[in-house]
Amino acid sequence: VHRTGKHIVFDLGAPGTEPNDSGEEIALRAQSSASPAAQWIVHLGMTGRLLVTNRDSPVARHTHARLDLSSGRELRFVDPRRFGRLEFRDLRRGAAFGAPGAEPLTIGPREFTALFHGRRSFIKAALLNQTLLAGVGNIYADESLFQAGIRPRRRASRLTGTELEQLRLALRQILTQAIRLGGSSVSDYVDADGARGFFQLEHRVYQRTGEPCRRCQTPIRRVVVAGRGTHYCPKCQR
Ligand SMILES: [Zn+2]
Repeated sequence: VHRTGKHIVFDLGAPGTEPNDSGEEIALRAQSSASPAAQWIVHLGMTGRLLVTNRDSPVARHTHARLDLSSGRELRFVDPRRFGRLEFRDLRRGAAFGAPGAEPLTIGPREFTALFHGRRSFIKAALLNQTLLAGVGNIYADESLFQAGIRPRRRASRLTGTELEQLRLALRQILTQAIRLGGSSVSDYVDADGARGFFQLEHRVYQRTGEPCRRCQTPIRRVVVAGRGTHYCPKCQR
């Protein structure tokens, strides 16, 4: 199981078992080799969760998929608001899943600068554009821009080389720390064991409108950029 952008990708092998075209019952074995026969791709969306449970556990409302694991347990996909997505790919008939954007945890300075060079959109909108960087969502865009001291409505093309490098390092630091703390449980996100994340306790600006900046005490402001609520400190970010 690995992550590509915002997607969770399960690499699967199909020894002696043809996938059922109806998609209702597919027996596949998890495969760690470099050339999987199939992939199951999950996007959690706003409220999706993957839960590993015992087979006889009560089925929660809004459970959209139940998968048998060879351990005898069950993997369930629960999504009340249904913004999540599930996809099955037979790799003998099509290409493996790939994200169009660059990976923010490993991208180098030159490639990062090239992504935003000449782009007239707001930097916040550019960060959310999954064809540029894969996997940066609203929370992490706001927190990274705060960390880098950059206002969300600066034009991407107007950022200096130094600012872009600060932003690249801020993204890497914020994402790494958020992953370590199990993500941000701002609504109902939990991991596969049902545990909540703790990164929401570290938020400096996200959903802190009107509250004092943790660095300078100035009230945090909220604007809308690219249709998304955007939070920043008017003093710490320029
Ligand atoms: Zn501040």
